[in-house]
Amino acid sequence: MKFFPIFLRVADARILVSGGGETALAKLRLLLKTEARIEVYAEEIAPALAEWAEEGRLVLHRRALIARDLDGARLLYAANDDAQEDGRVAALAAEAGILFNIVDNLDDSRFLTPAMVDRDPLVVAIGSEGAAPVLARSIKAQIEALLPARLGAFVRAARAFRAEAERLPAGRPRRAFWSDVFADALSAQTEPERETLDRLLATHLAERPAPGRVLFVGAGPGDPDDLTMRARRALDSADVVIHDRLVPAPILELARREAEIIEAGKTGFGASLPQAAINDLIVARAEAGAVVVRLKSGDPGVFGRLDEEIEACAAAGLDWTVVPGLTSASAAAASLGQSLTRRGRNSEMRLITGHDIDGFADHDWAALAREGTVAAIYMGKRAARFIQGRLLMQGGHPETPISVVENAGRPEERIVATRLSALAEDMAAAGLTGPALIMLGLAPRREEIAAPLPALAEAVS
Ligand code: SAH
Repeated sequence: MKFFPIFLRVADARILVSGGGETALAKLRLLLKTEARIEVYAEEIAPALAEWAEEGRLVLHRRALIARDLDGARLLYAANDDAQEDGRVAALAAEAGILFNIVDNLDDSRFLTPAMVDRDPLVVAIGSEGAAPVLARSIKAQIEALLPARLGAFVRAARAFRAEAERLPAGRPRRAFWSDVFADALSAQTEPERETLDRLLATHLAERPAPGRVLFVGAGPGDPDDLTMRARRALDSADVVIHDRLVPAPILELARREAEIIEAGKTGFGASLPQAAINDLIVARAEAGAVVVRLKSGDPGVFGRLDEEIEACAAAGLDWTVVPGLTSASAAAASLGQSLTRRGRNSEMRLITGHDIDGFADHDWAALAREGTVAAIYMGKRAARFIQGRLLMQGGHPETPISVVENAGRPEERIVATRLSALAEDMAAAGLTGPALIMLGLAPRREEIAAPLPALAEAVS
């Protein structure tokens, strides 16, 4: 971010505009919506300017701006349609330490004016740092359509009720009241009546504080677009988010702004906070009344030690819910362009782990080595050589296709297409650093079409 969005207090502050032509007018139309004291410096002026001055909406100085004018000003707009004059006044502002914007010259400006959706006091600001003004405008148009014209009045009515609402304890009880107040703000035709608010408040004051609860939420493979709507809503309601290391930052950013975010640090079975400590943490926060979102990568029920955490909640008498997520095997198969089951090839599909608490995990290798088997091997990076050895020992065809999908479903996804005989070697050569799935029995569909593997070609003929 080169420009950081903030809302600047301008009520009763001086905002100066240098210039009196069309460019200045466009900015002034925006500025006149504020409670700032607007001063315009220009030798030549458009007629509208004189009218606004007469109406007392701004103060007009029929001369060029000089250094002294900047004393105590909050902002300066250089809007002269004249690069030299703009540069001169901007230099004065820079010297005086006043923030300035040179219209249509972002590079030399200290601030920019975003595209705005104005439902005062609710204002949405949209900026693209000049990179995509057309996109910003189309986003603005969409938000305009989303926010009813009367929303501002709605927000003002709510604001007038703030002092009353403070009778509710701060935190969740008060938030619950406000989310009821605003529940249908986007579809409401009018602002709420005072009486309605009084009644709603009385209901909330009579309520006993809601107990905490725990949501075990699947975050999917890592792209925020792969979150379910329920997962999004859960994040939005969370007081506390306890997440695994595999959950990436863009997803955590969707958590409610005030939420406490705790990294439990577990990656699969490599625990860094002991499981018992995680259980205790979840229970303690929920018992204190919080909505706890226990956020796990993929689906919480796939190699997520979900049961231990549920049992801890149940033992403490806490309310809990599981919100399923997209497991990384689904994302990996999608990227390969393959299905996980296929008529005539495999009517079962295995999710197995390369590692368990005792080290490399043992499985029914003979079954896995059979032709046509499809298995997604989680946490298999370090176990690759072991897995390869077991499968070959049990008669696995050396040409069995295997795809290793690193960072499945994320922008940095990588696919290593290999075969059983070269698995460990190819994985080591690829230098994988992200989470990876070993997809046994699946080649990327495109490569399969380009060069059918011998085993498969035989099966087809
Ligand atoms: N509950 C998760 C799995 C947790 S175990 C799920 O349903 O996906 C952790 C293992 O999952 C990692 O070692 C890796 O093998 C796999 N994994 C998780 N996210 C992944 C991703 N985006 N791409 C590839 N593998 C991933």
